Amino acid sequence: MSIARFWRETPRRYNLGGSKCTGCGTVYFPPRLVCPKCASHRQSIEKMVPFQLSGDGEVISFTVVHDPAEGFEMQVPYVLALVQTPEGPVLTGQVVDVEPKDVAIGLKVRATFRKLREEGKAGVIHYGYKFAPREESGVAPAPQGPPDPVPASEARAQDRAAA
Ligand SMILES: [Zn+2]
Repeated sequence: MSIARFWRETPRRYNLGGSKCTGCGTVYFPPRLVCPKCASHRQSIEKMVPFQLSGDGEVISFTVVHDPAEGFEMQVPYVLALVQTPEGPVLTGQVVDVEPKDVAIGLKVRATFRKLREEGKAGVIHYGYKFAPREESGVAPAPQGPPDPVPASEARAQDRAAA
């Protein structure tokens, strides 16, 4: 599959689809068309291949956000973290299912797909990745509300059915 087709057909916010340069082995997320590390950018274009990140990671930096961004009012305080993936890229994302006080540098997390926000009463739902502690991290899960419906297509179908 060509990388262009891969990008068209894979909504990368639902799965951590990045790209990898087969010239130097660097992994990019979000995916890139050319490798900035390789000497010949033009030649690197044909060396880029789709690459799926495992979703594993480790918190290398984080901040507790008390002032919500618009649309995130229900979620404060929340933890925004830089997560180092074993594949190379550092991802930014919210850490969920854990009390902010229990988040620490070195916390082992895994990407999970969650509802990011909902727009208006019509309920346009946005999904994206967040990070939750892995079981072996030993962090007690925080109390949760009802589970988010994950597949966006199903959620939209339910919205239509309810309308
Ligand atoms: Zn490269």
